[in-house]
Amino acid sequence: MKITMAHGSGGKSSAQLMSDIFGKHFKNDILDRMEDAAVLEVNGRIACSTDSFVVTPLVFKGGDIGKLCVCGTVNDLLMMGAVPKYITCGFILEEGLDTELLDRIVESMARQAREAGVTVVAGDTKVVEGNGGLYINTTGIGEIPAGRDVSSANCRPGDVVLVSGNLGDHHACILSDRMEIENDIVSDCAALNDVVDSLFAHGIEVRTMRDVTRGGLGTVINEIADSSGCMIELDDESIPVHDDVRGFSDILGLDPLYMGNEGKMIAIVPEKDAEKALAAMRATEHGRDAAVIGRVKEGSGAYIKTRLGATRRFDVLYGEGLPRIC
Ligand code: MG
Repeated sequence: MKITMAHGSGGKSSAQLMSDIFGKHFKNDILDRMEDAAVLEVNGRIACSTDSFVVTPLVFKGGDIGKLCVCGTVNDLLMMGAVPKYITCGFILEEGLDTELLDRIVESMARQAREAGVTVVAGDTKVVEGNGGLYINTTGIGEIPAGRDVSSANCRPGDVVLVSGNLGDHHACILSDRMEIENDIVSDCAALNDVVDSLFAHGIEVRTMRDVTRGGLGTVINEIADSSGCMIELDDESIPVHDDVRGFSDILGLDPLYMGNEGKMIAIVPEKDAEKALAAMRATEHGRDAAVIGRVKEGSGAYIKTRLGATRRFDVLYGEGLPRIC
């Protein structure tokens, strides 16, 4: 069946769409009450984040827009030291969208939400004229446990920068699909609960965490250097990139350090905790390729020691990255 304008009418077809797809997959005590708003129990400080997802293709190697929208929002909450609890989702469906595909995407979204420990507590659907596209907006709420203070502004000279794994996979996967290039590159789309939980469980004093999404490592590192009023120097040789992604980006003249990821993060910790943090990250599924990649120093801006031994400015991404990657 295809989505028609009638599915957005608020009448019988809308109700059917609700019960057949959204209600079926998202079923839970809070959502099932079907009130005008969800009533949520939250303790202490909360973190809140919202994001819209417009990726094409809707399904890619390693994920789909449903999995991606949960991971993206959950990761943003995690990066503030929050424990993700609740998520809402707004769907904009284009007329002509296949309901079987929608069902598959919503199922994937529900599965990822369960895995990441978030409950879908509110949602909305609109249907617009179009060509079978799908857009999703998600908002997440998480609780910040007492004593956690994680912020881009917290870095101090001497701190150590770690990355959770190989860079560029998601970007290279989406680009390969769009260019119809056959390869084995799989998106890294993942919720990073395990990596973050492991850092806190090992008692690491986490100063800063950021997921390395659109704009890549270059953008995130510059933002942190600016917010903290420090200089950050990375060592190119120590930054992990999978051989397939390295080869792919070399051919296209792309730099994996500016490519987007959907399941990678950096953590900045005091020097005394660096070794313990590396082990804590490596002990997890999504942090098994973690590496120490640089240091925070006195000064300003971001720099990178190249493979030839020279040090150069590590700038933010200029111009256009690949559109509709997330
Ligand atoms: Mg983020």
